[in-house]
Amino acid sequence: MKRTKRLLFWLLLVGLVGWLASHSQPGRAQETAPYYVVQPGDTLSNIAYRLGVDLQQLAQANDITDPSRIQVGQKLVIPNLEGVQGEIAARPAIFGENLTSLSRGLGLAPTLLARLNHLVSPAQIFAGRSLLMPRAAADQNAFHHADLVGAESLLAFGLSHGQNPWAVALLNRLPGTWAALPGDTLFLPGERDASAPVAFPQGVDVQVHPAVWVQGRTHEVRVRAPEGSQIGGRYDAQALHFFPFEAEQWVALQGVFALATPGLYPLQVEVRFPDGRAFRFQQALQVQRGQYAFERLHVAASLLDPALNKKEYQDFANLAAPATPTRYWEGRFRAPVAPPLDTCHPSYFGTRRSYNDTFFWYHTGLDFCGRVGTPIYAPADGVVVFTGQTKIHGWVTMIDHGWGVYTAYCHQTAVLVEKGQRVHAGDLIGKVGRTGRVTGPHLHWEVWVGDVPVDPQEWLEKVYP
Ligand SMILES: [Zn+2]
Repeated sequence: MKRTKRLLFWLLLVGLVGWLASHSQPGRAQETAPYYVVQPGDTLSNIAYRLGVDLQQLAQANDITDPSRIQVGQKLVIPNLEGVQGEIAARPAIFGENLTSLSRGLGLAPTLLARLNHLVSPAQIFAGRSLLMPRAAADQNAFHHADLVGAESLLAFGLSHGQNPWAVALLNRLPGTWAALPGDTLFLPGERDASAPVAFPQGVDVQVHPAVWVQGRTHEVRVRAPEGSQIGGRYDAQALHFFPFEAEQWVALQGVFALATPGLYPLQVEVRFPDGRAFRFQQALQVQRGQYAFERLHVAASLLDPALNKKEYQDFANLAAPATPTRYWEGRFRAPVAPPLDTCHPSYFGTRRSYNDTFFWYHTGLDFCGRVGTPIYAPADGVVVFTGQTKIHGWVTMIDHGWGVYTAYCHQTAVLVEKGQRVHAGDLIGKVGRTGRVTGPHLHWEVWVGDVPVDPQEWLEKVYP
């Protein structure tokens, strides 16, 4: 009994001394310790991974016993991060930012940025990479941001800011458009703050829209350079075709192959100044997975011919390869069929398809409902570059809209235009049919950009460039 009382006394004394020690320097360590605020879609293990700390240490430092019970907005103290104070936030790196430009522009020591982001080599800063930095620096520039108010959904938020909700979700690394919560500060894609710390020489700027590229989408690379410059570039193995857009501004449109392996791809831009000097910049760009469905199809073996499929894809690619310097189109594309069929889609672009479990491909266009004879209209101005009959796609028309943008119309019952003919938006160009390998009449409509089929719906919703 005596012994227990003595033990209790000592325990209390040790506790009191400990409490006094921790409170003699009024809470300094606790107030300034670096912390991270839990974001939508975060899990404790992905936070630990991104912060480069041990999961168990992170849980212990924050008295977390059940990692599944962290909440959005919760402050997490980051252990073992000396020399950093206050909130640590993430923002995506943009094309043109490197370790030097970031540390200069944000006023942060390169060693701090390197330590926070576990950078071993400066090349690890690729466009779209989520970079950790003090909150003040993350908010300083690079992207406009806005707060999600009240019960506004990300869809409504995207629309009210003139942005594609999916692009907003991707930029903010949300797993879906449903994952944003009221009060969240979200980065918006689009025109970047002029003070963004990029590594371009004076008079040159390169902007990439959106910051993170996505399978099957259309992307813009805009270059500002002195009048009389020559602009070139590459995305992976594909040459970019730049065309003058506004004064001292050029733009290239480029699609990403819908089955491209997600990961890093080199984007290179070269500016040749009027005096002969040249500037070249290359940085890795992140390509993310698109949101596409998967379907398993069973067709008669006699109709399945992967070699023929590849051949017709290549024929289309050959037609869509040249980038005509004239831009024929203006504004958004119109749907190629009249209402109410313009919103009736038996199949969407990008759907992954497994044929008889032996051949894997994807849906390269957007399908519209229609009967045999339903009129097809040109979605924009252009020049017809091909009309003819193919085995899989039936009767096909292909229109060149300039700058490497093409549209194709498949399975037609009648083609009403000729090769070389100039067409205008709204012109009758053909009739829906069921020619080629189809199960019923419909219009299979393709949009090609930079020699790659892209999601046509973006062209119906957005103005390029
Ligand atoms: Zn189709």
